Amino acid sequence: MKIVVLGAGYVGLTTSACLAELGHDLVCCDIDDARVEALNRAQIPIFEPGLSELVGKQVAAGRLKFSTDAQTHAGRADAVFLAVGTPSDEDGNIDLTYVEAAVAGIGPSLRPDTLLVVKSTVVAGTARQLKELVDAVRGDSAIAVASNPEFLREGSAIGDFMEADRIVIGADDARSEAVLREIYRPLTRRGVPLVAGKTVNAELIKYAANALLALKIGFINDVANLCEAVGGDVTAVADGIGRDARIGSAFLAAGPGFGGSCFPKDTRAFASIGRRHGAPQPLVEALIQGNDQRKADLAQRIIAAAPSRGRVAILGTSFKANTDDVRESASLAIIPLLQQAGLEVHAHDPQPEAAKRQLTDVDWHDDPLAACRDADVTVILTEWDEYRSLNLKRMAETMHGHHLFDFRNILSAEQAARVGLHYHAIGRPDVL
Ligand code: NAD
Repeated sequence: MKIVVLGAGYVGLTTSACLAELGHDLVCCDIDDARVEALNRAQIPIFEPGLSELVGKQVAAGRLKFSTDAQTHAGRADAVFLAVGTPSDEDGNIDLTYVEAAVAGIGPSLRPDTLLVVKSTVVAGTARQLKELVDAVRGDSAIAVASNPEFLREGSAIGDFMEADRIVIGADDARSEAVLREIYRPLTRRGVPLVAGKTVNAELIKYAANALLALKIGFINDVANLCEAVGGDVTAVADGIGRDARIGSAFLAAGPGFGGSCFPKDTRAFASIGRRHGAPQPLVEALIQGNDQRKADLAQRIIAAAPSRGRVAILGTSFKANTDDVRESASLAIIPLLQQAGLEVHAHDPQPEAAKRQLTDVDWHDDPLAACRDADVTVILTEWDEYRSLNLKRMAETMHGHHLFDFRNILSAEQAARVGLHYHAIGRPDVL
């Protein structure tokens, strides 16, 4: 099928490359000229393992193109996927500006049989609202709008797309559902399950899933606090509860609070739509508040350990390993609090470009141990693999102080203690 994807970000690019790999003809469009130009020079604007290779393969095979001319390409498409951003507004609602602008821009040029598919994360009722918008800009009611929320995780996006736990499609008419089933047939034929329902249910599934995953993280972080208070070890507790098949071990790693481009904004939107419809979500409301507070509390732990005007080394600024994304990362909350307390921040991240644009007055280093030089306190904020094998002896020698905060629980307390570091983990006993 001829498919156009609007948005060449984490979701749009992955979707385009993967749908091309499934055999469809793809044009991925973005309004950002520089981004499209870079893509046409085979430069991938984001760090996502395997994406550069997959995009290169599909471009070479002639199945994937990039363009800024969405109107022309959408006018020839069988389906147009919307994968533009849906950020939070100041009340926690999602801001539909980009989605609405995209629909208004291409609406008049669509063929009557083109299916508009909302892949961006949008609250319940949005597909139906966008149907009204596209009808209004065209002056007819020809275009059907379907929902196909995306569940990929940055860092493993291609595998998540190609071997999804399930594909969720929402359609309010039989033809739309049939078109989406046809698009995904190469995956469902291989056994990937597909869940089909009304658009409103597909939209709710996305938010309810993210809220539940975020609740698991918030819960284990609260358990970690209790472990610290009573001398328990949250890694042992998480292992013990995660082996219960009803619970599962995923999303039970205690840490510095969730961040990224999805959980913070999706939980806020879920809580907000609940409030607006008189169906409050008190668990999620408490989760959001607790998660924000956690980052501030962890910053206080660092400040308390550092001398006045001391130096802190931050290892990891992206919101999780294997991505360069820093949206709502713990580093963006914690580093400014350290700076406000008069501490000097040195940092390392294997993919620091986005963080460098967001953070000010940080001294960046290309090597983690260089960031630790003369530091009073070192803090691990992201679970990058390269930090798991850090030479702790050299770290201890190069630091001025001896406090090591491992907010991802990736190092060995015994090894840290052996080289004289004062190791502080999350929800596990400190080793002096
Ligand atoms: P992103 O910010 O990386 O990319 C969005 C892209 O859309 C940008 O390149 C922007 O220039 C482009 N854009 C904006 N308006 C446009 C228009 N009118 N036409 C064409 N392009 C336009 O965003 P993302 O992380 O890919 O997220 C996209 C959507 O997918 C969001 O709703 C997000 O919540 C959802 N989502 C994201 C993830 C994730 O892990 N990033 C996972 C699942 C769902």
